[in-house]
Amino acid sequence: FDALTVLPNQRQFEIDGRNMREAGSLAIIQIHQLEKWIVGYGYAFTDEMIKEVSEIIQQLKPASAKVYRIEEHRFAILNHDEQNFERMKIALERIMSVLMSPLIISNRRIIVDAVGAIARASNKNESSELFSHAMAVLGHSSTRYKHELIEYDPKIHTYSFENRIIKDIASAIANNELFLEYQPKICSKTQTVTGLEALLRWRHPEFGLISPGIFIPVLEESNNIYDVTDWVVREVCQQIAYWVADDVPFIQVSINIPGSYITSSRLLSVIKDNLYKNKINPSYLELEITETSVIHDIENAITAVRNYRDLGISVALDDFGTGLSSLSYLRKIPISTIKIDKSFVDGVPVSKKDCALLKAIITLCYSLNLKVVIEGVEFKEQIDFITSMTEIPLVQGYFYSRPLQVKELVAWLQE
Ligand code: C2E
Ligand code: CA
Ligand code: CA
Ligand code: CA
Repeated sequence: FDALTVLPNQRQFEIDGRNMREAGSLAIIQIHQLEKWIVGYGYAFTDEMIKEVSEIIQQLKPASAKVYRIEEHRFAILNHDEQNFERMKIALERIMSVLMSPLIISNRRIIVDAVGAIARASNKNESSELFSHAMAVLGHSSTRYKHELIEYDPKIHTYSFENRIIKDIASAIANNELFLEYQPKICSKTQTVTGLEALLRWRHPEFGLISPGIFIPVLEESNNIYDVTDWVVREVCQQIAYWVADDVPFIQVSINIPGSYITSSRLLSVIKDNLYKNKINPSYLELEITETSVIHDIENAITAVRNYRDLGISVALDDFGTGLSSLSYLRKIPISTIKIDKSFVDGVPVSKKDCALLKAIITLCYSLNLKVVIEGVEFKEQIDFITSMTEIPLVQGYFYSRPLQVKELVAWLQE
């Protein structure tokens, strides 16, 4: 494969260093393994699988076109000949339908989720914009279910995927498109559940399930995250009240609070109202705030965390270790828990350096009387290492459980 490179302005592209200006049409095929795209988990394609998918695409291309690799899971098919646009479309439709049926790759039956986008230049001047047109289609058609091929239409694609998210979130709440999953936190020494983390899901009527890793940052950047957070607080408080009434053992539920919202008095009153309305003890609730958001406005963050602690609500510092901050603020902020980011356990126990680093972070937290939760634990070997070197080994990860819907969770808790 030759590589197709996108130039920094995102509009033009080059192949082997040659700027493309006379292309007729460009298609982009983006492939994902289904589960991975939907909720951000599942197993990534191996290199071998990618190679086989590439070969399928290569074989089915129209005669006058050439296939290029853009990124790991993204392929471009470029056709210089404008006359052949219909043939190009037919070939791409075939590629999509082959990818759509389950493929046997490396003796595993896998379902590939693919989106195809095609853009056509009607004159030479438009060639340099082919790439951004194709990407606009891709963003617009983020329906990871449909496997369809969509053609660029300037009337339809005037707004981006981001704009759709921002526009559609308002009706999402009213139309019941949002729901929560809960992932258990477990003490690996005693095998008991010490808490749950509420994780947001959005079943979009057109796009299907969208991962929070995709839509939360868009809503945060555009200041559209506040109503959504209020909704999460409301849902979680109602859920806690049900669980308390039903004697479901769960200890505590944590809610992710965006950095820009933690210091707001609106959040404080929404939380107070919901605790009061549902008659629940504040100790059932925990807030998770990210390290990066704390560093951003340290003095106000300290005040906010103190207010919640005085109410009886504990606060955890999320994604610890990813913010590249000085550690001095840890002495000043009255948080109760540190959540160590997954990236610090990925290499454990194989990499001795990673083991030493994880151990040092845990020792540091313990010396400050902080509880430690280690996130993203997937393997038995990681659990064994953590259990052997940690006083109270609290872990969260696929090894014990993925985030679960309420029904599944209740069944899992009672197992
Ligand atoms: P986070 O707060 O760090 O949440 C942990 C993420 O790691 C979750 O992804 C969870 O499903 C995933 N995870 C847990 N265990 C494992 C594991 O063993 N392996 C792997 N590979 N992943 C694991 P999810 O649910 O996709 O959420 C992504 C991020 O979106 C969250 O990261 C959080 O920052 C944000 N988010 C989710 N729900 C909310 C919400 O209600 N409000 C806000 N503001 N942000 C949210
Ligand atoms: Ca979190
Ligand atoms: Ca985290
Ligand atoms: Ca994270």
